[in-house]
Amino acid sequence: RETRRPHGRPRVIALANQKGGVGKTTTAINLGTALAAIGEKVLVVDLDPQGNASTGLGIERKQRRVSTYHVLTGEAELRSAIRDTAVPRLHLAPSTLDLLGVELEIASARNRAHRLKLAIDGLALGDALRAEPFTYVLIDCPPSLNLLTINALAASDSVLVPLQCEFFALEGLSQLLKTVDQVRDNLNPRLSIQGVVLTMFDPRNNLSNQVVADVRSFMGGKVYETMIPRNVRVSEAPSYGKPVLLYDLKCSGSQAYLRLASEIIQRERTLKAA
Ligand code: ADP
Ligand code: MG
Repeated sequence: RETRRPHGRPRVIALANQKGGVGKTTTAINLGTALAAIGEKVLVVDLDPQGNASTGLGIERKQRRVSTYHVLTGEAELRSAIRDTAVPRLHLAPSTLDLLGVELEIASARNRAHRLKLAIDGLALGDALRAEPFTYVLIDCPPSLNLLTINALAASDSVLVPLQCEFFALEGLSQLLKTVDQVRDNLNPRLSIQGVVLTMFDPRNNLSNQVVADVRSFMGGKVYETMIPRNVRVSEAPSYGKPVLLYDLKCSGSQAYLRLASEIIQRERTLKAA
């Protein structure tokens, strides 16, 4: 495939925004599902102690004995944490509440910010020898710019920023962009902004439309054309442990995530061709 990286290296994308409830986890699950549906092999890494991505993909507690906690502490390799999901080609490294304590546990380790990067490098190396390596890794970050998010940014090629179409959408964005700059300067020179995706858009709401205009003028071409509409099916799906694309493929939310996946791949091809 054109999107495959050399030596089985996947494209690693962190879904980050230190605000909670903006659609990071929903986007990790459903963009991951949409990418898998169009032929990519996708790993979602749950880096939020709340484990919403793990629950939303139907991975029960007993399947989380090896989790991203063990990967970050060095007790386990990433490969041994990976679980299959109900979606073909979509896999998950789950999280547990143990992650809350990991920051303290690895605080004095020299490579504390590079734990996840080393784990993904190790996976890619092993994958290079396998028939079908991952082509995308999506990292679902916690709602904070803590050491977990720093690990995600240090491990990633790019950052995908979900912004909720509400009044305070842009608040905190400059802080996030500053953090991205700092990580690029100090830890990971290849880190770029993948794009901004507007979530929970409601076309009947004037405020929603105003937010879209503001974000587009502030972030320009980094903002995807595709906006994810506010759609009750999207919010129902996780309680069934399913991505919305499995729960109701025809709903507006599912269709939007499919469009977003194509737009992301299309943009990467354009960049590569340039
Ligand atoms: P974050 O991971 O950034 O904290 P979530 O993805 O968990 O945000 O989303 C926050 C809440 O909003 C969840 O209850 C989720 O189901 C709901 N939600 C997310 N996207 C949509 C959408 N497009 N339409 C309706 N509800 C949504
Ligand atoms: Mg979340």
